[in-house]
Amino acid sequence: MASDNIYKGSCFCGEVKFEVSGQPVAMGYCHCESCRHWSAGPVNAFSLWKPEALKLTHGADSIGTYNKTPISYRKWCKRCGGHLFSDHPTMGLVDIYAAMIPALRFEPALHVNYQETVLHIRDGLPKMKDMPKQMGGSGVTVPE
Ligand SMILES: [Zn+2]
Ligand SMILES: [Zn+2]
Repeated sequence: MASDNIYKGSCFCGEVKFEVSGQPVAMGYCHCESCRHWSAGPVNAFSLWKPEALKLTHGADSIGTYNKTPISYRKWCKRCGGHLFSDHPTMGLVDIYAAMIPALRFEPALHVNYQETVLHIRDGLPKMKDMPKQMGGSGVTVPE
């Protein structure tokens, strides 16, 4: 097996604690309006994992969920409001926001939903107009 890495994360107040083990399936940045609006930030740095990689170790009852669309079930701590992760059931993956697991070496491979960007990032990585084909998107790239 690849690795026994375990990354610990917690919400803003520490009530919700979790561990993630192994390695992410993908890492990158999402520029979509939903991520920006919900996070109140210009971009979301994501790390996608198989759901079984995530283990809640404390405060599971304090997790709130909201799904504006069937694609993303966004989770936060009901005590402090701190964001945690998003379930993507149609993809069979969970996005554990990279900021939530600071020990993870964040190595972004691409930008998604770049047609919606408000913050151009000229880092030379591929800029997907929406999503890669294997994630149900057009696979089209756009200029930085
Ligand atoms: Zn909290
Ligand atoms: Zn997004």
